[in-house]
Amino acid sequence: MKRIAIYPGSFDPLTNGHLDVVRRAAKLFDSVIVAVAQNESKHPLFSLAERVALVNKAVAHLPNVEADSFDGLLVEYVAARKAKAIVRGLRAVSDFEFEFQLALMNRKLDENIETIFMMPKDTYTFLSSRIVKEIARLGGDITGFVPANVQTALLKKLKPGKSDAYKE
Ligand code: ADP
Repeated sequence: MKRIAIYPGSFDPLTNGHLDVVRRAAKLFDSVIVAVAQNESKHPLFSLAERVALVNKAVAHLPNVEADSFDGLLVEYVAARKAKAIVRGLRAVSDFEFEFQLALMNRKLDENIETIFMMPKDTYTFLSSRIVKEIARLGGDITGFVPANVQTALLKKLKPGKSDAYKE
């Protein structure tokens, strides 16, 4: 039986912290699907298609990882993809309360699905998509915080016309 894990999130955009969690999960599971949530209510900077394309390019070197998008109930998507586990990242105690609540609710909705928490490398614990967007918006250097393709896309998105064309 193939062990499939789903790593859901907004990924607006993918950071090196997310990527660190993906790499760790890829060692434990036969296949990891990075599932990008539509999340229109969060008014994402990147469209769903852009976020999926950015993840796909950044994980191209990991043969057992792919990106997909989903809308609606996560547990239904997990079951539809025949996965048994949800992967979530824990950066600090501040993440814990929300993640704990989410994991228990998902277990209530489908008790066959387990949530696995992974801690990123300590140097990535301060990283969030929100903070990276804020730094980029203010003209700060985001090298080392996001994959190269995400950096290019962010610069292009925030200063159209001033960086190389963003092609995905
Ligand atoms: P969401 O909107 O679902 O929180 P995110 O894209 O912000 O989506 O995060 C997806 C998952 O990745 C969450 O479990 C979050 O805690 C985790 N995560 C976010 N940033 C990091 C990071 N720097 N290191 C490890 N995990 C992270």
